[in-house]
Amino acid sequence: MSFKKSEKLYQKGLTHLVGAVNSPVRAFASVGGNPLFIKKAKGSKIIDVDGNEYVDLVLSYGPMILGHRHKSVEKAAKKALKNGYSFGASTENEITLAEIVCDAFPGMDKVRFVNSGTEAVLSGIRLARAFTGKDKIIKFSGCYHGHQDALLVAAGSGLATLSLPGSKGVPEGAVKNTLIAEYNNLDSVQAHFDKYDDIAGVIIEPVGGNMGVVIPQNNFLKDLKELCKKNGAVLIADEVMTGFRSKFGGAQEVLGVEADITCLGKVIGGGFPVGAYGARNEIMENVAPLGGMYQAGTLSGNPIAMAGGISTLTELKRQNPYEFFDEMGSKIETILLDAAKKYNVDLSVNRFGSMMNPFFTKVKVTNFEQAQTSDTEKFAVFFWEMIKNGVFLPPSQFEAWFLSSALSKKDIKIFEKATNKAMQKVASS
Ligand code: PMP
Repeated sequence: MSFKKSEKLYQKGLTHLVGAVNSPVRAFASVGGNPLFIKKAKGSKIIDVDGNEYVDLVLSYGPMILGHRHKSVEKAAKKALKNGYSFGASTENEITLAEIVCDAFPGMDKVRFVNSGTEAVLSGIRLARAFTGKDKIIKFSGCYHGHQDALLVAAGSGLATLSLPGSKGVPEGAVKNTLIAEYNNLDSVQAHFDKYDDIAGVIIEPVGGNMGVVIPQNNFLKDLKELCKKNGAVLIADEVMTGFRSKFGGAQEVLGVEADITCLGKVIGGGFPVGAYGARNEIMENVAPLGGMYQAGTLSGNPIAMAGGISTLTELKRQNPYEFFDEMGSKIETILLDAAKKYNVDLSVNRFGSMMNPFFTKVKVTNFEQAQTSDTEKFAVFFWEMIKNGVFLPPSQFEAWFLSSALSKKDIKIFEKATNKAMQKVASS
């Protein structure tokens, strides 16, 4: 397998792009080696510029739930393109997508479309503050909510309660109203409520996807909702990753919890740039032009993106692939665990429907601290051997893998063969 053209493009890209990428994880920093450059994709497969074909478990970090270039999505986007790309005025498709989204989330009467998950969450946070008139926000260590200043807080175990900025360029003032709690630990949330009376809301990934996949234990989400209610704070579900992926009604449907504010992204645009935040009327009426919370966007509700979103969600509802995801996911999980056992590699796998990943540790991972016990060097060996055997994975131990409804039995066979080779390599590394 040759990566010559990718290597050449990487060197060329370094001149005018930062690290030759437009989003840091694409730089393969934590697995070493040069990043791959992609030429095209179709269905369950992605093909790089050297012509290497991979079963794609990255899926653009989640949006491509139907696989790449689904024919009805492509048709809808092409049709929309013919009518113009952006108007700065309302279109009927915005109403149609809003109906589909509000229908899927019972706690949502109104929705506002934006262009990314980051925008959805930063607006959701502003809305929580506008609605409650309070300033502080609790977030969980290991949860990622986009790159807005207020939530870009270092979340390593030792620093967990210190709220130190996790990025240069974020002033301490920007995170002074951000409090950190531990995932799956209600007491750590309670402690903040005991100490402060100006907490506007708690934001959570209802299933963690940015420290690897971390699943809420017992009734964590339900208890969290109760705690918020008791303290006059709102629960903000960041379903950018899980929305329409865990179930059509997101992780909230699976877990039987209704958040006050829900943030969406990824799948709702089906690969086009769409994000959204929504809530019941009482809350959404605070957003301009109905209320005093300002939030706007030149390209928000973009006609091509709306068409992509409507067709993706319509097809997703028709396919209803959630049982299929469970079946495929459980096969992949078994393959990983069997190979780890065979080659005597410490491995623990977390999976929530079509989101999953293996941790190279024997610890059962239920929070960020436990995730960090993983051997990232072993993951790097595993990652490259999977690439060499035709499986494209996120280039980080702490990113979720995603499944698409285009995945076939043949793809699983490729995955099985690759996994066995990769695990053998890990064992001998
Ligand atoms: N929230 C969550 C839970 C995410 O996983 C992400 C992106 N991975 C974001 C927010 C930010 O979304 P975007 O990259 O579209 O800005």
